[in-house]
Amino acid sequence: KSAILLEEQRAIEGNVVSYPRSMPIAIKKAKGSIIEDVDGNRFIDFFSGCGVLNVGHGNDFVLDYVKEQQENLIHALDFPTENKMMLIRKILNHLPVHMQDDYKVSFGGPTGSDAVEAAIKLAKIKTGRDGIIAFTGGYHGMTSGALAVTSDTFFRNHLTSLMPNVHFIPYNYPYRSKTEGTNEIDGIEAFKSIFTNSHSGISKPAAIIVEPIQGEGGNIVPEEGYLEALVNIAHENDVLVIFDEIQSGFFRTGSFLEFMNTNAIPDIITFSKGFGGVGFPISGLIYKKEIEAWGPAAHIGTFRGNQVSIAAARGAFDFVEIHGIKEHTKTVGAYLMNKLKNIQGENPFIGEVRGRGMMIGVEFVRDKRTKEPFPELLKEFRQECFQKGLLFEVGGHHSNVMRLVPPLVTTHKIIDAAINVMEIAIESCME
Ligand code: PMP
Repeated sequence: KSAILLEEQRAIEGNVVSYPRSMPIAIKKAKGSIIEDVDGNRFIDFFSGCGVLNVGHGNDFVLDYVKEQQENLIHALDFPTENKMMLIRKILNHLPVHMQDDYKVSFGGPTGSDAVEAAIKLAKIKTGRDGIIAFTGGYHGMTSGALAVTSDTFFRNHLTSLMPNVHFIPYNYPYRSKTEGTNEIDGIEAFKSIFTNSHSGISKPAAIIVEPIQGEGGNIVPEEGYLEALVNIAHENDVLVIFDEIQSGFFRTGSFLEFMNTNAIPDIITFSKGFGGVGFPISGLIYKKEIEAWGPAAHIGTFRGNQVSIAAARGAFDFVEIHGIKEHTKTVGAYLMNKLKNIQGENPFIGEVRGRGMMIGVEFVRDKRTKEPFPELLKEFRQECFQKGLLFEVGGHHSNVMRLVPPLVTTHKIIDAAINVMEIAIESCME
């Protein structure tokens, strides 16, 4: 039956579909970390609908909030509701104590890209400037503004003028920058030189947008102090800092937001994905009150802050608190990372295992010494894993990184099963 639906999709749905090309299944249902296709095949989901299902597919605890909400109110534009105010208070209460009184929340449209658009627009309005500094390997979405700050030219071919004045600087990539033998921390000198070198060719920007851990870029954790250094340079020069926490947020790394594992404080934070609990669309900004620059109706939208999505977000927050998901994420994340490091130890083609919490990257290389990327092997490995019932996404600056973003509720037992699949799959790839 999967084959028939995939064939029909090819015939009548737009050509833009992406994931079914590498994971050709038609999904029937899903629960926790397990997806079942229309033929009754079961898959371990280490992909989570692209880092969305942090509390697991079809989480019953969250669904109770959803059911109650949809009985009462679904669409309320941007009118205040108890539901919405409760969520805003919850978001603010999860920030570090010293930030709680200084930030506010606004909702974007349904997708992460909407939040990125809003963040860029707010920064431009506040500063009266239009330049944005972004990073190589960064991914922020597919709408024009969000795409303009996304570095992969694959997505931008044929699109000549998205948004003017975007400049990319290198993201700190500890595994590879060392190969290239530089002592300079990637991006820092390039960012500084915008302000110190009148020949940089770049006029003073409105903002810098950065993922605290690069997701699509390959789950790259920058070295300690990196984000702080970026924030310092930005603030010394009156430039706003946007942290895109769309993928790294909502407890993915064991903290509410990834920046809370550092000492860096952003001006604007984008959120989406995991906030929708069981996959309801929601996105927004958490930003400093002092940079409030929206006039009334300056950024309106029909589907701003859907009440069911908001209820799902509240449910997901409560679930995380009641079920100790922060601790669980750290424990199972470390367990998974250790198991992967064991595989790495015995395998000549796994160059690095890195990550935080349940956001883990495994880099495939031809040779551990030269670190030459080996995307072909990863492709074959992914195919083997898929056939044996394990789903994950591939990403990275060189398409050679296995990106693991399992639901945070994943158990030790499921991790063992996934590792077992990987071990068998890697064996058959080496034959
Ligand atoms: N920012 C980051 C960091 C992301 O990972 C993504 C999605 N992968 C987006 C923005 C865009 O979100 P959406 O696909 O919902 O537009």
